[in-house]
Amino acid sequence: MVVSRGRNQAVEKKQLENLILDINVLNVIKSIRNPDLGLQNLNLVNKVVDSIQQPKTKFLRVRCNDCGNEQVIFGAPSAVVKCIVCEKVLAQPKGGKGSIKTKILEVLG
Ligand SMILES: [Zn+2]
Repeated sequence: MVVSRGRNQAVEKKQLENLILDINVLNVIKSIRNPDLGLQNLNLVNKVVDSIQQPKTKFLRVRCNDCGNEQVIFGAPSAVVKCIVCEKVLAQPKGGKGSIKTKILEVLG
């Protein structure tokens, strides 16, 4: 009984952590619609999305053409997205969809 209850608590804790991550992602996505907040928040989105495996929105896993760094970017950015390693431009805002400037490895979500 004790072992089983401990396992349930662990599952609940994990679900709670996932929920908090989801809320963080939503808040960051809302904030990047403000162009004044721009790039910093997009990089934060990349980090948050990297830390979870099931993003709710369309994100792209891309590889930088210059340095080979892989990162996850939002598919419809409201500001220029740069490589976090070498700062090459990976995506630019363009209408509803972003204009992706580098190799797309995978479409997520
Ligand atoms: Zn790079």
